Amino acid sequence: MPELPEVETVARGLALKMEGRTLVRVAQHRPNLRTPFPPGFVQRLTGRRVAGIGRRAKYVLVRLEPGSGSGNDTLLIHLGMSGSMVVSRGPAGAPGAHDHVVMETDDGAVVTFNDPRRFGLMDLIADGEVDSHPLLAKLGPEPLGNAFDADTLSARLAGKMTPIKAALLDQRVVAGLGNIYVCEALFRSGISPERSAASVAGKDAQRLVPAIRDVLTEAIAAGGSSLRDYVQSDGELGYFQHSFAVYGREGQACPGCDCDVARTGGVQRLVQAGRSSFFCARRQR
Ligand SMILES: [Zn+2]
Repeated sequence: MPELPEVETVARGLALKMEGRTLVRVAQHRPNLRTPFPPGFVQRLTGRRVAGIGRRAKYVLVRLEPGSGSGNDTLLIHLGMSGSMVVSRGPAGAPGAHDHVVMETDDGAVVTFNDPRRFGLMDLIADGEVDSHPLLAKLGPEPLGNAFDADTLSARLAGKMTPIKAALLDQRVVAGLGNIYVCEALFRSGISPERSAASVAGKDAQRLVPAIRDVLTEAIAAGGSSLRDYVQSDGELGYFQHSFAVYGREGQACPGCDCDVARTGGVQRLVQAGRSSFFCARRQR
């Protein structure tokens, strides 16, 4: 499943190919993904110029300039579990089985949304309604934004008796964090995933916020190298190799302390609310 750094890489890659370009042809190959496409989806996109591309949480936001008889719209894209954006040179060939939307630009780029499991979605949001869109309205602050700091995080965790791991996955507390980067940020800040959310305040929050920012920023930088390859050759956006300190490393040596794996067991795995948490019991308290 793409996490925030992958989505940021998708947004940056699409920006390189689509910003300032006009969508000359749009094809939609099924009536719905996780949710139905909005009415007039193809008509509302065709002929529109792309003003800019950004990201909110794990949503890509494509801002469109006004078309004839319409105001500004924003195309919202969610990649779901298995979605990807594939860029190639036109003309577009016959769509593959899981190619659900194909957009062609006036300079010959073909942008295909492919999603085998169809947990992704697309929507069009009218001007001025982005912040109040049902998927976006309740989201907490962006973890890489200026509004996210130790005081903000502490205030949002105050009174919560749920484990800090679960609280950080709650998109209302902070937007866009998924299982991998929560595990990594808790490891880096030395905080046990089992601690109560409310207990993470003061110095703990001051360690956790930069840890969250750093793990995301480093992963985005790793995505940047895949982006450079992509710019030269097109291809699929959104998935790249990145190494983790604890995620997926149960039983391996902890990189943060001199673990004797035979004695300590190394990185441990714990299931919390149906999700695996990976952590070092020596380092994370
Ligand atoms: Zn350790």
